[in-house]
Amino acid sequence: MVPTDAKGKRPVVAVTGCVAQQEGAELLRRGQRVDVVVGTQALTRLPDLLKNSDTFHAAKFDVNPYDNVSFPFSVTKRSDPVRASVTIIEGCNDFCAFCVVPYTRGHERMRASAEILKEVRLAASQGHREIHLLGQIVNHYEAPDRGGCDFAELLRLVHEVPGVDRIRFSSPHPRHVTKRMIEAMQDLPKVCRHLHLPVQSGSSRVLARMRRRHTRDDYLRLVGKLRVSIPNIALSTDMIIGFPGETDHDFEDTMSLTREVGYSSMFSFKYSERPNTLASARLVDDVPAADKTQRIVALQELQKSIQTKLHQQRIGTEPEVLVDSVSRKRRSELAGRTSENTVVNFQAAPEFLGRLVRVKITNSGPFSLHGELLQGH
Ligand code: SF4
Repeated sequence: MVPTDAKGKRPVVAVTGCVAQQEGAELLRRGQRVDVVVGTQALTRLPDLLKNSDTFHAAKFDVNPYDNVSFPFSVTKRSDPVRASVTIIEGCNDFCAFCVVPYTRGHERMRASAEILKEVRLAASQGHREIHLLGQIVNHYEAPDRGGCDFAELLRLVHEVPGVDRIRFSSPHPRHVTKRMIEAMQDLPKVCRHLHLPVQSGSSRVLARMRRRHTRDDYLRLVGKLRVSIPNIALSTDMIIGFPGETDHDFEDTMSLTREVGYSSMFSFKYSERPNTLASARLVDDVPAADKTQRIVALQELQKSIQTKLHQQRIGTEPEVLVDSVSRKRRSELAGRTSENTVVNFQAAPEFLGRLVRVKITNSGPFSLHGELLQGH
């Protein structure tokens, strides 16, 4: 029974995203009180499906595939006053063995550059100083409406939009990092000095089983090129531990790659089967749970020690910080991020929220920096 408000109206219950795509029909079959089920590719239909949704009784249901990736701007609500996420690509054609995205989000579709730029201009005019470009393989972008406009060119176009102070993007795939993309990152000061570069494993043998289409050597060569071209760049990554067939030796490769790259941060996960993926159909989840736990604990300890050292090296520097929130630990402090995506906490009045400020770093921990406000603009 869904509760009603004082006027007897009940909320509209909508289920969206990958769970809706995979389990939506089941939710309805089990008689759940759901008004709208909208799959990942039908999200643009959400406003239509919600219209009059409190006056009908039968659930509206759409998990069909659609090629159209445009979204009506008038319904976009942004809760973050500082950052605006703008999707440029939907879907993926890569079929990595562990991943559900190609099944739930469908094949790769590009948004028109004109539409992306219109959304960026609108967000900037509303005060969002940081634009975060999103896509499953964000750097595979090719504009369907502008011949020759690849991801590097799109970065240049977004860079020209007045009011945009910072540009981030996620997630790029290592095999689509081109010379043009690196040059654009080098040339454009608003593009943040941080690259999230998912590797997933340090073992070429495991990478092949994952169908990642890059080897350990390919990845390390790319890291070398990035460090030469953009010396202050911070690299972060995703790592899967205990993928089927991962041996102690493979895991050691992951540890040595982590040491060699010196990541600024890492999302690490213990492998678990996802429905309908190639790994769940063809590979046995054969690494014992205790081994997965032991390995991920060792990896996270290593990563923490790397971050601690990197952060200690920042003491005495004066990075620019985009202030985005009140500090979670101390309410009298504000928090923001450096271009390299490191969190910095410092004492300042709330009027600095949303501003770019210069902060002198005085202290550090494994997960954040602490500093003193120098000046803001
Ligand atoms: S991990 Fe990334 S590249 Fe691989 S299938 Fe999933 S979305 Fe595509």
